[in-house]
Amino acid sequence: MKKKHLAMILSKLRGFDSPRPELEQYRTPGNVAAELLWLARSLGDLEGKVIADLGAGTGVLSIGACLIGAKKVYAVEIDGKALETARENALSLGIDCIEFINADVVEFSGKADTIIMNPPFGSQKPHADRPFLLKAFELGDVVYSIHIAKQEVRAFIDSFVCDSGFSITHRVTISFEIPAQFSFHKKPLERITTDIYRFQRIV
Ligand code: SAH
Repeated sequence: MKKKHLAMILSKLRGFDSPRPELEQYRTPGNVAAELLWLARSLGDLEGKVIADLGAGTGVLSIGACLIGAKKVYAVEIDGKALETARENALSLGIDCIEFINADVVEFSGKADTIIMNPPFGSQKPHADRPFLLKAFELGDVVYSIHIAKQEVRAFIDSFVCDSGFSITHRVTISFEIPAQFSFHKKPLERITTDIYRFQRIV
């Protein structure tokens, strides 16, 4: 499968039926998800590995990970309705390597080789990504995560990651499209700039 093909499959999946602003439910666009997953695969962090997807939403990252060789994916999501859509999306592609877990990420305890996530960006609640990063650093040694590419966010990530005993090995900047879905969205399509990070535990 080519990266473009993966992006196309993921962009066709069903999104949030009634997105909840307080949970920052923005689905990851197919091209952004494919970029993250391709990087993970090229670095040997995906094929044959156990993955945890924190805040899995409608399953874009979990499903993509299965499509390109993950052994098993834990899809952890607090919103049962979103998780139901994720389950249907997986079923529609005949994917059966995902374990769906309806829980707050802070409650999840499991072992994973690689953590993947597109956490809340913190635009509704400052540092809403903090519990996701904390949990990811507790669960595994390699973490992929998407954050807004702003100077203050980068500074926060840099120090938070360092304090947690991790280092940033990769940072890929990519445009992220959000179709209007909340009343406070003024334009039909919002384009923001995000960073895809790879963090690795310092041994
Ligand atoms: N990863 C998905 C969704 C990203 S949006 C995708 O790539 O498309 C962020 C997701 O985190 C939403 O689905 C939201 O419901 C979920 N979320 C927010 N806070 C959470 C928490 N404390 N525990 C688990 N999931 C949470």
